[in-house]
Amino acid sequence: MSTVLRNVRLMPECGFGQGSVDVRIDGARIAEIAPQIALSSNDTVVEGRGDLLLPGFVNTHCHAAMTLFRGYGEDLPLSRWLNERIFPAEDRLTAESVYWGSMLAIAEMLRNGITSFSDMYFFCDSTARAVLESGIKANLSRSLVSFAPAINLAEDTRFAEAVALVKEFHGAGDGRIRVDMSLHAEYTNQPDYCAAVGAYTVKHGLGMQLHLSETEDEHNACIARHGKTPAAFFADLGVFDAPTTAAHCVWVTDEDIAIMAEKGVTAAHNPTSNLKLGSGVMPLRRLLDGGVNVTLGTDGAASNNTLDVLRELRLAAILHKGVNHRADITTAAEMLSMAARNGALAQGRGDCGKIEVGARADLILLDLSAPHNMPVYDLAATVAYSAEAHDVRMTMVDGRILYADGAYTSIDLERLRSEAGRVIAHYFD
Ligand SMILES: [Zn+2]
Repeated sequence: MSTVLRNVRLMPECGFGQGSVDVRIDGARIAEIAPQIALSSNDTVVEGRGDLLLPGFVNTHCHAAMTLFRGYGEDLPLSRWLNERIFPAEDRLTAESVYWGSMLAIAEMLRNGITSFSDMYFFCDSTARAVLESGIKANLSRSLVSFAPAINLAEDTRFAEAVALVKEFHGAGDGRIRVDMSLHAEYTNQPDYCAAVGAYTVKHGLGMQLHLSETEDEHNACIARHGKTPAAFFADLGVFDAPTTAAHCVWVTDEDIAIMAEKGVTAAHNPTSNLKLGSGVMPLRRLLDGGVNVTLGTDGAASNNTLDVLRELRLAAILHKGVNHRADITTAAEMLSMAARNGALAQGRGDCGKIEVGARADLILLDLSAPHNMPVYDLAATVAYSAEAHDVRMTMVDGRILYADGAYTSIDLERLRSEAGRVIAHYFD
């Protein structure tokens, strides 16, 4: 059983020039790319119309179920937003509401061409169920906090949930789910707890997700508390010995960037969230020049308010030019790498985020015939500066079409609308 995507264009670095090609997908993987592929009678054929085939976008920082709080608590400073709106609302979350909030996020992401996301939250088994049922990929993590010193890991219920999540879901769905560990942030954790969780993460070969130097206050308070920056704090405790994705990195110093490069820490760039919450602008050029793997993330829908990596891509593509007064500071092609391949690498998915024979077929088709995308001189520039998420005609994960031309194949949208509406109403009773 194979699918043939007929008459699609690829980015020039795929090595097939400017003309259109056919792509055959057998099972979960790309089996053949050629100018013309002979069809057999049981092939499923998708007509590509000369549109652009890209690796699916990877959203490397998300709190999926926060779709439930989209638009709830706007125009507040981060601490008031968290303490007055988000934390009290999160106290009322249930396994069921996280399931529907996650499914709502997944529906939005598939429609926006996102094939995999990294998530930090709680009730993660609900999100895992939504991932398995919908067909998307995710690196899920149970966010850990430790406000009291000397917590015994063996008696910590949050840590027990994280370990249970690893046991039940790591590698589930033919590897579509990977389970990472997650230390929420330096300011929500004790050093001994971070060291213990870091050691567990390294010992079990897992990834790590955390928030790093999101705000100036957080960065400076860490220096006042520990005499070092958050990056040095985590590095010294051994946390960065696990493959780590650090969200935000707005206030990182050149010394932090050197640590991140040496330890192979990925920086997840969340430009919309950082602007909306007034946190600042990540030093993207310095991170890239310092050799750090930089990816894109949306953060949760309560601080964005969309889960749209293409929108983050476009914002990142123009933001750094503006704040640095340098139009040549970043290129469109760099943004495309951040949106897909770099994200797949951050997730520990080396066979995703690229279009070549043998790679996992996590693919999207982008409509190049839309008036706002014509003409095309430079495909990367079209994607970075003109394209919109509604140009995504098809989203495929592991060779399975999950969204095409406005319709989902794995999600009952009417039921999702009704159930999400029901659990959302719960917060405003
Ligand atoms: Zn976050």
